[in-house]
Amino acid sequence: MADAFVCGHPISHSRSPLIHRHWLGVHGIEGSYEPLDIAPRDFAAFVKRLPASGLAGGNVTIPHKEAAFTAVDRLDEAAEATGAVNTIWLERGLVHGGNTDVVGFAGNLDEVAPGWRSGKRVVVVGAGGAARAVLLALQRAGYSDIRIANRTVERARELKERFGSDMTAMSLDELPGAMADADLLVNATAAGMRGELVVDPAPLPAHAIVTDIVYVPLETPLLKAARNRSLAVVDGLGMLLHQAVPGFEKWFGVRPAVTAGLRRLVLDHIGARS
Ligand code: NAP
Repeated sequence: MADAFVCGHPISHSRSPLIHRHWLGVHGIEGSYEPLDIAPRDFAAFVKRLPASGLAGGNVTIPHKEAAFTAVDRLDEAAEATGAVNTIWLERGLVHGGNTDVVGFAGNLDEVAPGWRSGKRVVVVGAGGAARAVLLALQRAGYSDIRIANRTVERARELKERFGSDMTAMSLDELPGAMADADLLVNATAAGMRGELVVDPAPLPAHAIVTDIVYVPLETPLLKAARNRSLAVVDGLGMLLHQAVPGFEKWFGVRPAVTAGLRRLVLDHIGARS
């Protein structure tokens, strides 16, 4: 029997308990997955106590992903590259931290738009924490021309410095020119959550794939505009589901599947329609 958690502040909005408890039920595992509200001032001590706690590990969410990066004993390659940790597990008494948003982003596209890996040119809008995971996934998938646009252009420049020379940093005003020959457009901003259209897909070529990592609402203004143009669209819910897979496997020893039933369960919970 293993026990896991998701910690954040606040934490009541988290859909992770729904996902992991579903998998515990599917696999008949006598484990638990509990939401824990941990204030920022208590987070480092919480991580220090983990080896003696009897817990197998858990997820880390807002606002602790960067604090977890410095608090854990060991980092995996994705956490090291992104500077953020969203999954924690114990190995031989040490606290390990990983960033599964990277495989979550790629797993979602692999499932819904498998041709995405043959693209070369991509436009990423946004330069926050999630954009870092997106950029690493794109580099790993072989994208050789990555254009990052952000409202605060300085943050886009910082990501270019961090991730390398195959990237170009730009302002939102430069988007139309950058999109004209793009194979993929990724919206990694939070704008869709507030119903704002931060980038108009009009300049994209007809073969382009459009994805938004926001999943509430499921159909963001960007995805709606892209669908109206008959472009291939991928919503952000699959990223949430796929990023959960490696953690569950670490804590409970079984690799779970992202299924239509799980997607339906979470959709019902957020009150959206697929
Ligand atoms: P973050 O670090 O706070 O970054 C937010 C980004 O959005 C920044 O680039 C910010 O630009 C931009 N932004 C926010 N409002 C904007 C607006 N009105 N117009 C233009 N740009 C705007 O947040 P994050 O952790 O990267 O998360 C971004 C979004 O992804 C959130 O909605 C989060 O819920 C979602 N997310 C989804 C998944 C998933 O599994 N599907 C995983 C992680 C995150 P500035 O730099 O100019 O402020």
